[in-house]
Amino acid sequence: MANGTDFYAVLGVSSSATADEIKKQYRRLAKQYHPDANQNDPKSAERFKEISEAYNVLGDADKRKEYDDMRRLGAFGGAAGFGGGARGSSRPGGFGGTGPGQPGAGAFTDFDVGGIGGLGDLFSSMFGGSGASRTRARGPEKGQTIEQTVSVPFRTAAAGGKVPVELEVNEECAICRGSGAAPGAQIKPCGECSGRGVISFGQGSFAVNRPCPVCMGRGNVPTERCGTCRGTGEARAKRTVLISVPAGAENGHKVRLRGQGGKGAAGGQAGDLVITFDVQPDRFYTREGLDLIATVPINVAQATLGSRISVKTLGGKKVALRIPPGTSAGRRFKISGQGIAKEGKQGDLLVEVTITVPESLNDAQEKAMRDFAEASGLKF
Ligand SMILES: [Zn+2]
Ligand SMILES: [Zn+2]
Repeated sequence: MANGTDFYAVLGVSSSATADEIKKQYRRLAKQYHPDANQNDPKSAERFKEISEAYNVLGDADKRKEYDDMRRLGAFGGAAGFGGGARGSSRPGGFGGTGPGQPGAGAFTDFDVGGIGGLGDLFSSMFGGSGASRTRARGPEKGQTIEQTVSVPFRTAAAGGKVPVELEVNEECAICRGSGAAPGAQIKPCGECSGRGVISFGQGSFAVNRPCPVCMGRGNVPTERCGTCRGTGEARAKRTVLISVPAGAENGHKVRLRGQGGKGAAGGQAGDLVITFDVQPDRFYTREGLDLIATVPINVAQATLGSRISVKTLGGKKVALRIPPGTSAGRRFKISGQGIAKEGKQGDLLVEVTITVPESLNDAQEKAMRDFAEASGLKF
């Protein structure tokens, strides 16, 4: 374990320091970094947290002995190890947290050294504070809700369908099959929690249980941890699932997939995955509520003399539409019942015409247009 990253280093005492020396040093540091004396200083708060964590272990003869044993055995793994927090990081390098903000990082896998001492709880019980959290017991906790945005084609949103969504999920580590133990390693009861998987902090009515950070709640520890998952027993994997898009889904529509979010802690159920639809524009249709608007270009002659045109519905069916003589640009024609169907309601398909003007005319067309102009009394 690198110097400067362990509990001794956090307190600035040697590993051979006496209990008295540790206590004195802790009191000195706790006073210096106490939140009351350093309001609005996150660094001090962080430091205070680290100091509390370190003292919570080193200040207790039994815990210290176990810590020393494990430290000797290298049970804390990498250099960051148990004291990862000492470098100002809240991530426990050695315990393989899955990383901040990652989906699936439920309270359990996301457990960081900051939680070992239950800062608030520890603080309250030591200093007699009245923090609301002091009596909060740590029962099963639901995993976190994960949000994800998925792109949905316009027509899929209008008519309903499915879209593929790539999820990041926690899966059992394939190397250790979830045990967190390196191949060939022995599994031994966890010394930190005496195999209980939880640790109590505080006393009496202030006591709170936390998942044991050493065994991560398993109650036992391998003599050597799996290098692939760093002992967490989990691996992140990508899985593609098909999400149903209800007909008429609007942009921003959300779908909640229960149990597909972050892992629960201490036996709590998994969190939910919330998918937000990002409906893409279509080159042909737009939407107005449940009505579909289709813009169809017709030429000057069609607009003037009237015409029959063919319009495709959302379902791909061709519908004939009569354009009456004298139709101006922007006029809408309703094709009933061919809009979006949603919750028993049915919109219409509104065909809006635009008029295209020919960019060039052949001789016959030009003569016809000039005749038309003359007949209309236009002078050139
Ligand atoms: Zn593994
Ligand atoms: Zn344990």
